[in-house]
Amino acid sequence: MRESRNLLEVEIDWGEVWPAATAFPPNDCWALRKGKFHLSRERNHNLSCTHMGELSTEHTTMCIPLIAHGNTVGVFHLYFADCETDISIETRDLAFTLAEHLGLALANLRLQEKLRSQAMRDPLTGLYNRRYFEERLDREWFIASQKQSYLSMFMLDLDHFKRFNDNFGHDAGDYVLKEMGSLLNTVIKERGTVCRIGGEEFAVICPNLDEQQSICLAEDIIELVRELHLDIRGISLGQLGISVGIATFPDAEVSGQELVKLADNALYEAKDRGRGQAVHTNKIAKKGIDSSV
Ligand code: GH3
Ligand code: MG
Ligand code: MG
Repeated sequence: MRESRNLLEVEIDWGEVWPAATAFPPNDCWALRKGKFHLSRERNHNLSCTHMGELSTEHTTMCIPLIAHGNTVGVFHLYFADCETDISIETRDLAFTLAEHLGLALANLRLQEKLRSQAMRDPLTGLYNRRYFEERLDREWFIASQKQSYLSMFMLDLDHFKRFNDNFGHDAGDYVLKEMGSLLNTVIKERGTVCRIGGEEFAVICPNLDEQQSICLAEDIIELVRELHLDIRGISLGQLGISVGIATFPDAEVSGQELVKLADNALYEAKDRGRGQAVHTNKIAKKGIDSSV
């Protein structure tokens, strides 16, 4: 059963190829309408579910709602293609037991998935959150240090976002943050991991991306943000700007946390230099900034 509760889709089937509808609305199943199991043929009735099409007029179908924690999470169908006689009590009982276990297992898996997603995602943008960022950085840094491969760290911060909120309101600000999330995901794709680590601050971890490539990527992002013409209820939100700080391991022979600090310093420098630009550094702050675009 979909979260929207308006459609059921075959998730798993076994035996022969499932012969009836593979997607149908809940109302097409008597078991779901009744909230209890349904046999298409019994001694005193012959009532087929619509989702079985023509099949259940000849053979017996048993449908059992999968219920857990009071919610219907799906339905368990049995199609007895070769069975001419009544379904035995043993078979029914086995089906009930299976359905009970399946319902609970499915509900638990869904809950687990939901909690996992809530723990690592930012609800506004759907991007990974700071907690996940830290975990992922540790992992990527470890891999890069083992292989001595490149790992570029990007810190991004929207320019004058406070002023933007003051001018257009918080809702418009939220809308921009969401759009920024999808822009970053679209640009980065499989090349890295995009996270929202603070209000209007994003971090991108890109393994196997060297200094030059990371600068090009940052330039692309800055350009795309500049070209992003958004409007809300017909009102143009004007031009947006973003500043980017980058550092690359192992050119910078530092830990994961220090790499973040370097990228952060580069971001401050990009702000200092007038915003809407990228600065790359592999040197500790007091030694000065390395290179910029
Ligand atoms: P700078 O160019 O130096 O980064 O200036 P700024 O105004 O972007 O920086 P500052 O850190 O002073 O302000 C960040 C603002 O971002 C503050 C707040 O209004 C806004 N902001 C933070 N989180 C959210 C959010 O979740 N939604 C919205 N709409 N605004 C947010
Ligand atoms: Mg900020
Ligand atoms: Mg800002």
